[in-house]
Amino acid sequence: MTMQYHSTRGTAPALDFEGAMLAGLARDGGLYVPAEIPVMPPADIAALAGRPYEEVALRVMQPFTGLSEARLGDLIGRAYAGFGHDVRAPLVQIAPSHFLLELFHGPTLAFKDFAMQLIGQLFQDVMRRRGERITIVGATSGDTGSAAIEAFRGLDNVECFILFPQGRVSEVQRRQMTTPVEPNVHALAVEGDFDDCQAAVKAMFNDHAFRDRVGLTAVNSINWARVLAQVVYYFSAAVALGAPGRSVGFTVPTGNFGDIFAGYVARSMGLPIDRLVIATNRNDILHRTFQTGTHRKEGVQPTISPSMDIQVSSNFERALYMAYDRDGRAVAQLMEELRAEGGFAISQGAMEALRDIYTSGRASEEETGATIRDTYARTGQTICPHTAVGVKVASEITADSPMVTLATAHPAKFPDAVEAATGHRPALPPRMADLFERPERLTDVPNDLGRLKSLIDERIA
Ligand SMILES: *Cc1c(COP(=O)(O)O)cnc(C)c1O
Repeated sequence: MTMQYHSTRGTAPALDFEGAMLAGLARDGGLYVPAEIPVMPPADIAALAGRPYEEVALRVMQPFTGLSEARLGDLIGRAYAGFGHDVRAPLVQIAPSHFLLELFHGPTLAFKDFAMQLIGQLFQDVMRRRGERITIVGATSGDTGSAAIEAFRGLDNVECFILFPQGRVSEVQRRQMTTPVEPNVHALAVEGDFDDCQAAVKAMFNDHAFRDRVGLTAVNSINWARVLAQVVYYFSAAVALGAPGRSVGFTVPTGNFGDIFAGYVARSMGLPIDRLVIATNRNDILHRTFQTGTHRKEGVQPTISPSMDIQVSSNFERALYMAYDRDGRAVAQLMEELRAEGGFAISQGAMEALRDIYTSGRASEEETGATIRDTYARTGQTICPHTAVGVKVASEITADSPMVTLATAHPAKFPDAVEAATGHRPALPPRMADLFERPERLTDVPNDLGRLKSLIDERIA
């Protein structure tokens, strides 16, 4: 039987992999998780050592998908062919027992490419088989939108519209969205801020006639297929460092909790991960949760690691569901408290279950800048501000096993913060050096739902 997926709020129908991927969010507002996590025997984990990334991806993901080996292998091959490094996710040593896992060799220079490139291939494959078309609409403050446009450019059966706040994304991020020439991707510069963009997307999803007419779909970070694609690099890194014979810790610069939850899935599959460390910037709702047992919203403060500037962390719901022994009713109640009262207390039992798996730490703006500077001085490695938050938090942990910090973006994506810390401006990789010369293509749109919807209708007609 193929794997089933259950909603974290317990009442939406169970779906298979394809259904969970196309649905994104469950109909009861919950997130899909596998009904059971398959365990990989130690001998099978050992056999991954020295294998190409694509093969590790196939072995790790196939049991979750119900897709044939041939089909999934083909899609994986296409997804990672455009990466700028043969190893896809190489390890770099920065201290005797501390490694960086470089996840920024994809086309938009952030780890989101690992999931988004694969999801592009998966969506195209499903839609071709069904003979249907879909329309992806998303709002972005930077990284997700550029990763989505890169992933969907030129694919059949998929139109992709990304709304971003005019004048409020970095130049690299904007150019990554506006320079692809394929007619099925559309960068829309909205006269408003990120919240306006997100509100417009939500309103489109709530307009059921529009939603059905254009085949609206989302690819935000709660999509299970995105989490699954991220499980793979925990395996490739751990086996390179001696798993299953030796255990490994991971520190993950965290925002929406998608990336670190993938680490939890890898651990549940039998990968010997002894610590999963949540690293937050000063938007530290998760760190406070682990300190106090209470999960409470505060406002968002801008930082030099903007992809982690979050008020609530959407994928944390998946961790809660596991900690509450898959009790969807309990999770639904917590989420209702979050909505109505801005926070909730976690039961003692669930908090113990969470602390068995995760620890947390936080880095201030000053510490983040100092870590970029020190890492450069000690090792010659230039790291991005998100990675620096991880390196700082990881450096405060002592353990016998090696620690791997996820390097989530290329430093050239955040040149101002890096230059302020080190005095030098990081260069784009050579394959992208002409980004600033390529012609841009974007549409300015007022912050007006009617205009946005008619524009999408016209473009897909
Ligand atoms: C998205 C992002 C993060 C946060 O990842 P989550 O899965 O949301 O926790 C961290 N760093 C960078 C560079 C990102 O783009």
